[in-house]
Amino acid sequence: MPAAPSPAQQALRKLGLTRDIDLALHLPLRYEDETRITPLQSARDGAVVQIEATVTASEVQLRPRRQLLVHVDDGTGTCELRFFSFYPSQLKTMAVGARLRIRGEVKGGFWGRQMLHPAVRAAHGALPTALTPVYPSTASLPQPYLRRAIATALQRADLSDTLPPGVAPPLVRVWGQNGPQSPYSLREALLFLHHPAPEVALATLEDHSHPAWQRLKAEELLAQQLSQQQSRLARSRLRAPVLRAPHAAPAAPLHAQLLAQLPFALTAAQQRVDGEIAADLARPVPMHRLLQGDVGAGKTVVAALAACRAMDAGWQCALMAPTEILAEQHFAKLVGWLEPLLAASGRRVAWLSGGQKKKERAAMLALVESGAAALVVGTHAVIQEQVRFQNLALAIIDEQHRFGVAQRLELRRKLQAQGMEPHLLMMSATPIPRTLAMSYYADLDVSVIDELPPGRTPIVTKLIADSRRDEVIARIAAQVAAGRQVYWVCPLIEESEALDLSNATATHAELSAALPGAMVGLLHSRMPAAEKKAVMAQFSGGQMGVLVSTTVIEVGVDVPNASLMVIEHAERFGLSQLHQLRGRVGRGAAASACVLLYATNDSGRLGETARERLRAMLETNDGFEIARRDLEIRGPGEFLGARQSGDALLRFADLATDAPLLEWARALAPQMLAQHPELAARHVARWLGGKADYLKA
Ligand code: ADP
Ligand code: MG
Repeated sequence: MPAAPSPAQQALRKLGLTRDIDLALHLPLRYEDETRITPLQSARDGAVVQIEATVTASEVQLRPRRQLLVHVDDGTGTCELRFFSFYPSQLKTMAVGARLRIRGEVKGGFWGRQMLHPAVRAAHGALPTALTPVYPSTASLPQPYLRRAIATALQRADLSDTLPPGVAPPLVRVWGQNGPQSPYSLREALLFLHHPAPEVALATLEDHSHPAWQRLKAEELLAQQLSQQQSRLARSRLRAPVLRAPHAAPAAPLHAQLLAQLPFALTAAQQRVDGEIAADLARPVPMHRLLQGDVGAGKTVVAALAACRAMDAGWQCALMAPTEILAEQHFAKLVGWLEPLLAASGRRVAWLSGGQKKKERAAMLALVESGAAALVVGTHAVIQEQVRFQNLALAIIDEQHRFGVAQRLELRRKLQAQGMEPHLLMMSATPIPRTLAMSYYADLDVSVIDELPPGRTPIVTKLIADSRRDEVIARIAAQVAAGRQVYWVCPLIEESEALDLSNATATHAELSAALPGAMVGLLHSRMPAAEKKAVMAQFSGGQMGVLVSTTVIEVGVDVPNASLMVIEHAERFGLSQLHQLRGRVGRGAAASACVLLYATNDSGRLGETARERLRAMLETNDGFEIARRDLEIRGPGEFLGARQSGDALLRFADLATDAPLLEWARALAPQMLAQHPELAARHVARWLGGKADYLKA
């Protein structure tokens, strides 16, 4: 039996460092300079230095608190080392007479230098000649262990170039111009970055602008491009049903019927996008399209029209939404629009959700399997094991970024399992800035609804301190008296769902007391589905004037009569989230407002990023601008809503600064796939290993 892995080995595995190449590509966060010794005499107050000195006294004091005091002398001066926690082994290392190398921050000057908790070890052997790397690690993985593992792996791993002969990434100058080609091979870049010479300008290592870093970032971006373009190629070889309405149809197509009965005309943008989707569906290759449109742009009706095209051709369509409430709302809307039209042919719209009763679920599953359900709407219950479609041709995913990567993978597997590949339409209100679209979504076609339906009045956004809550409540009373409706959103408190709930409950009680004439409802994520549904129905129906809620209403809810959105503790929300929430109002003709209530910390201040977010909300209503700023503030990881899949994200490259490298990778990838497929395969395997799947999700 093989020996059980040690905690350190397990920690390595957890970090995804299983192959030699993974270790070789695990790069330092920062470095420590242990290559020189500073004489104490010239160590300035506040400087981090390494000294070499002999212990002249060592004593454990008990008052005012237990501490170890060690005096050292290096011949040019003395210094006192102070430790508030220490092991017996350290006492031994620091016995009187011992010669030590000590690294830490020097405090004080001539009259008494001190170091608090310096790093100490016995002084033997020559000084290192390169900077000492400090790697990203975890508590159970000590730096020395990781350093040894990486040093060994660097010697063993195959670091030969996978770029085609004569090809190298450009060297990007700090001021943004491309210079000559990078002078580093992969091997040289890695050896350098793990053990840089002490003369290097540390700032260029820290901001990843050093040419060796550039080489690595270019390689990483290339791997991502290759992997995505590969999956695009693979998809182009798959077969999907051709969805065109038959010429000699007995009745007018659903698509035309739905258009004719809508109470509004499509905007030009909606028409264009509907056409783009129609063209995709008419091809025998699976569609892989992202439909982007700011909140309120009218994506749902475009999705319904796409579903009609599938149903007109005699196939099934599925629509999935990330939350029960949103799915429910889509269901209600689609049933209203489509069931009267479907009835003639005996078809229906089915509903699938996690919270469903067993009997109802069984009935729905039967409808789906028999094909009687032409359209299936629900949460991710739609893609669960027991669900068998008769002939699914189109899957639509609303707010796709809200689905976890694992769920997206599950969907792909589900779709693949049924032989013919269905078309895929994803929708998102979170616009993707160009660089992100080019990198993470290189595998997608994108349609944009870049125009809001006519007659919307712009939303006025106000930033108000929580101390002026009473004024806000007075304003709510006025809105409700005028027959309008109001949302009040309380933040999710990550550490404590219970606290979160009590917050919302308290606010609900406060508003109920302050607004005796109005019906004030409460909605939170822990409520049973049926109760949520009932509350939502009262609010959409207009009987309920005020809805207090945790962020469960965040996505997609559509109540056009709501004209005021209050967001409590707005400083705790992310920017995209705030924008999504604000988009719940301003959907009708009435003038709408969004109030961002904020609370400051004890010293009366807002954090830096919170301030930036709130400022962005005041300055713009434009989803694209919001997304751009969000990317700036948060970086792409959280932006993609892919926190679970940190693996899938770029580790080294930064889309904000590395666009030229991204362009290079994007241009090279198709050439490489066509002319050097073995190099491309090796490159992807080296960089992504088993993770390539995640990038495609
Ligand atoms: P989102 O893009 O955020 O999902 P919805 O599809 O929920 O937006 O649409 C927002 C509102 O706009 C809905 O009430 C919808 O019926 C309405 N709507 C959609 N398209 C139009 C249009 N062309 N003209 C007028 N109203 C529209
Ligand atoms: Mg929507």
